[in-house]
Amino acid sequence: MQTAPPSHPAHQPAFQGSSPDSSALAPSLVVSIHDLSTVTRGAVTRMLADLGDLGVPVTSLLVIPDHHHTGRIDADPDFGAWLRGRVAEGHEAVLHGFYHLRPSKAGEGVVTKLITRSYTAGEGEFHDLTFDEASALLQQGRASLHACGIKPTGFIAPAWLLGEEAEKAVRNEGFDYTTRLGSVIDCREKGEFAARSMVYSVRAPWRRGLSLLWNGVLFRALRMGEAPLLRIGLHPPDWEHQAIRRQILKFIRIAARERSVTTYQDWLARAHSDSPSGSS
Ligand SMILES: [Zn+2]
Repeated sequence: MQTAPPSHPAHQPAFQGSSPDSSALAPSLVVSIHDLSTVTRGAVTRMLADLGDLGVPVTSLLVIPDHHHTGRIDADPDFGAWLRGRVAEGHEAVLHGFYHLRPSKAGEGVVTKLITRSYTAGEGEFHDLTFDEASALLQQGRASLHACGIKPTGFIAPAWLLGEEAEKAVRNEGFDYTTRLGSVIDCREKGEFAARSMVYSVRAPWRRGLSLLWNGVLFRALRMGEAPLLRIGLHPPDWEHQAIRRQILKFIRIAARERSVTTYQDWLARAHSDSPSGSS
């Protein structure tokens, strides 16, 4: 999905803003699996089995309540039971859009078209919503997860494309955190922790080739720079390409040996409990 070099250092050691300084935390690894839905549950189950074999017992699971309008999670009792089972094991369920689809709008400029169609294949659902539109989808999404017996504390926008008004809505709805490609945003403390996520784009052969190269460079840079938080974002289609899957598993095997494996929710809770001010 993202293959260009970062425009800022791979990481910075502390929150920007008023959040606690988490640079003293043990080096951590968060593996997130994007796009879990009634459609992708089987694929995600296979990914979790591979990750478990590598010493990654917990992940942040990004759940789409109604993936491309193909089936709501709260209308599928098997999905709800399965998700509750994973959360009971220590995985985290994060709200990830509602449909994961951005309807194209009339009169769009070239830049908007490039961002929302080329960069994300039309999946930037929260890229340019109004505050009210975003609030309504967040409420529906949260209600869908509640109906499955899950209370999410985080929201992550599809393709990390979170517009300004949508970000205000996320804060207003009381989510504890959100993430962008380059940072974790603590909504309660209004702090932002710079941490670049690894992510692969597999839609075309050239994208896969570039992703392997770029993520190889990024992994080495984050590892040598002793990034406090290493983020690896996975998508179900990654597992359909053996070269991509092999590289991901190799890097995760190394990182899981060197780092404390956690979820976004637990990582933030630990940052708060370790802060000198003792804020929670
Ligand atoms: Zn997604």
